[in-house]
Amino acid sequence: MTRREGTGPGDDTDRRLRREVWLMGRPDAARAPSDSLTVVVCYPQSYELGMSNLGFQTAFRSFAEQPGVHCERAFLPPARESAPGLLVTGSAGDRPSDRAGQRADAPAAVSLETGTPLRDFDVVAFSVSYELDFFGLARMLEAGGVPLRARERGEDDPLVLMGGVCSLLNPEPVADFLDAAAIGDARALAPAVSTSLLAGRAMDRRERLSALTRVPGIYVPSFYEPTHDGDGTLSGFRALDGAPLPVRANWGGRGAPAVTAVISSGSHFADAFLVEMSSGCARRCRYCAAGHVYHPVVFHDLEEMERSVDAPLEHTRRVGLVSAALADHPSAVELLTRLAERGVEVTVSSIHADRVDRRLASALVKAGVRTVSLALETVTERLRSAIGKPVTDDVLSSAVSALASEGIEGLKLYFMLGLPGEMDEDVEAIPPLARGLFETFASGRRRVRTSVGLSSFVPKPRTPFQWLPMAGVAELRSKLSFVRRGLSRYSRIDVSAGGPREARREGVLARGGRELSNAIALCVEEGLPWGAALRTAAVDPKTVLDRLRDEGEVFPWDVVDVGLSKERLLASLRKARKEWDL
Ligand code: SF4
Repeated sequence: MTRREGTGPGDDTDRRLRREVWLMGRPDAARAPSDSLTVVVCYPQSYELGMSNLGFQTAFRSFAEQPGVHCERAFLPPARESAPGLLVTGSAGDRPSDRAGQRADAPAAVSLETGTPLRDFDVVAFSVSYELDFFGLARMLEAGGVPLRARERGEDDPLVLMGGVCSLLNPEPVADFLDAAAIGDARALAPAVSTSLLAGRAMDRRERLSALTRVPGIYVPSFYEPTHDGDGTLSGFRALDGAPLPVRANWGGRGAPAVTAVISSGSHFADAFLVEMSSGCARRCRYCAAGHVYHPVVFHDLEEMERSVDAPLEHTRRVGLVSAALADHPSAVELLTRLAERGVEVTVSSIHADRVDRRLASALVKAGVRTVSLALETVTERLRSAIGKPVTDDVLSSAVSALASEGIEGLKLYFMLGLPGEMDEDVEAIPPLARGLFETFASGRRRVRTSVGLSSFVPKPRTPFQWLPMAGVAELRSKLSFVRRGLSRYSRIDVSAGGPREARREGVLARGGRELSNAIALCVEEGLPWGAALRTAAVDPKTVLDRLRDEGEVFPWDVVDVGLSKERLLASLRKARKEWDL
């Protein structure tokens, strides 16, 4: 295995590091034994976003705390003016057509702590929570001097690992770039991978990978060959050398709340300490991957969550509560109340309207929450029920009244367009419903903030809607502009919307197979626009996105089993289709 040859952090990085508060032992490269396993945990986006991502923080802590492991962090390097195609963000607007291939003067991907190029670590481990970040992953490998395709790597090259929700949903689009994918929780997988690699020091690369196939929850793509029917349709996978098929998720490690390892004033949630309240969601809305993939649902213990903020409160008063469904936690109000009594300012993610009452609203206000987001997704009761998120207008109205009467100052409503079974009346009903709720919310108050977030439905793997097609760009555009126009009549409503093109790209990257690795590589290496890259790689986005799938169709993500029964998903889909007559 190789050793690191860092040049040390630069001035900007030094400043950044000085403004961090470490809640765990700080890795010291100079003191690490020379036979340590060196791991760099990478986030394929900016430092600001990575440090506010609890999954990334958890992966970093999980590796860094292993005996015999020296761990550092790396983020997508910012673009230089001389390399205009290399953008930092991977969100809407970050067009792969703008990401020309790696240029000679492009910034190198190096570790934050010692400025060591990625190629000089033993393991390069990515945490990926958003499919569009597959481009960032490929760019970081290239900018870090790591051969992009796993088959091109030699004995001295690092092993490239990916974890995070994208690994759980479908690692196949980047399978060619990965030596291994972690399927499950980093708190169980990082120790198991570290132990396997430390024990395999004397082995060659193939032997180390073979050993990883025996680690529960580790998928090693080079030990699996996709098989196809005569017409090119995926028919299954062939496992090589005794590798398990399918690879089953490893759900160990979820017992205690995940918490921030390093508080940073430069993160998106500046100075916030993040605490996981629950993992998974019991509601299982039919479109929602998070609601299906993490199971069983775990609600963390109130006392344990409160204890977790003891040490951080010496450094910050900001606590972010992370949960797919905060208000479903049986101790949500009690936790908010206790944190408020300790002078904590809390931030929360979106809340389910049917859980909002005056007691919860009051606890939120006392804990310093000023704005509440409600993810409504759609507005007619017929479609709400069909997507598995039934809630009545009366319930919504009473939730909004409760928020207003307790003094919440801002309300953001989220809607999704292009949902299966959506009709014109569903779209037309959005502006008046939003307006009505905002009027209830304002209820005579002058200083309120009201906003709407619009997104496009993407049929994600491992949901009952995985068999369904996605709406096209023209349809999504027309629905978005209709809703935008409808809302523009109400001057006090701020509207933000993700672009349909980006949503379609996300859909292809979420649902595609291994052949997508070539398309991503063409964008990054050759600078091809996404459409041209897909054509060159012979990937038809319509085949990936626009078909109603046969119930028996084999999906690229079937090589991994996260513990969800396909029969159960199908039963849920059939129920929905009956309701919509699809
Ligand atoms: S949309 Fe929200 S309530 Fe529904 S399953 Fe997902 S996290 Fe749970």
